Amino acid sequence: MKEYAFGIDVGGTSVKIGLFKNDGTLVEKWSIPTHTENNGASILGDIAKAILAKMEEKKLTEADVEGVGIGLPGAVDAQGVIHKAVNLHWEDTFNVAERLSGLLNGLKVKAGNDANVAALGEAWVGSGKGYDSLVMVTLGTGVGGGVIVNGKIVEGATGAAGEIGHMHMNDDEEKQCNCGNHGCLEQYASATGIVNILEKELAASDENSVMRQKKHTAKDVWDAVEEGDALAIRVAEQFGSYLGKGLSIIADVINPEIFVIGGGVSLSGDVIMPFITKNFEKHVFHACRGTKFTRAILGNDGGIYGAAKLVL
Ligand SMILES: [Zn+2]
Repeated sequence: MKEYAFGIDVGGTSVKIGLFKNDGTLVEKWSIPTHTENNGASILGDIAKAILAKMEEKKLTEADVEGVGIGLPGAVDAQGVIHKAVNLHWEDTFNVAERLSGLLNGLKVKAGNDANVAALGEAWVGSGKGYDSLVMVTLGTGVGGGVIVNGKIVEGATGAAGEIGHMHMNDDEEKQCNCGNHGCLEQYASATGIVNILEKELAASDENSVMRQKKHTAKDVWDAVEEGDALAIRVAEQFGSYLGKGLSIIADVINPEIFVIGGGVSLSGDVIMPFITKNFEKHVFHACRGTKFTRAILGNDGGIYGAAKLVL
């Protein structure tokens, strides 16, 4: 195997790029802006330019670089075909891996969905290291997921495997999810979802709560839970009920060794974890009851690590 690989994580505002050694050591990371104008026509060209310039700077040739892995905000199938990426203003269905490889003089390129790729990063050198099967759950503005079985990403038929944020959890939800459906897990387990639950609870009564003085953010809810605030604890119970139940269903289907919880909400991990695991244990099939839970450790770099691992 060649000594180096590049890992790329494409977001709506910036593209993170990492140069890695094949043992998972990060040599250097940097980022370039994502140019979404003209339907994102220059995004892949900008990435190719940045990589070729770095190879020249480091005096690396194709004999030194195993390839380039790229994580993208959209459904990407096992062949590298992306089906639209709203954040990048990409409307078409096309093979990203082939197109980028063409811009890189034929260098090997593999592409994946960003949440799936972040899961692979955690499995490689993060808190999922040493586990063959894991499910990563990212609790941010939305809820993302990535499923690794036998050390490999499960892409699914159209690249949509691991979209756990859109598992239907509640028949009675009136608000619409970003995806157009109603009652998705992300409407209760994301940072936005936690705030939605909070605002419902605050409006339902005049009950005294520190949340009436605090800002309405997920972080403030968890701080209030730590202070023992009854209303905040009820919000946490609802969050945990939806997420714990959702993860128990995933465990019944995949039976992973471990769940890795990441994203901004997970930074309050010591407080939130018991709310999740309690509800998980309550609903999961008995043979899955030993499933472990841990917090992600690679943070925003998970994507570039996992992307590099795609080609290694
Ligand atoms: Zn949804």
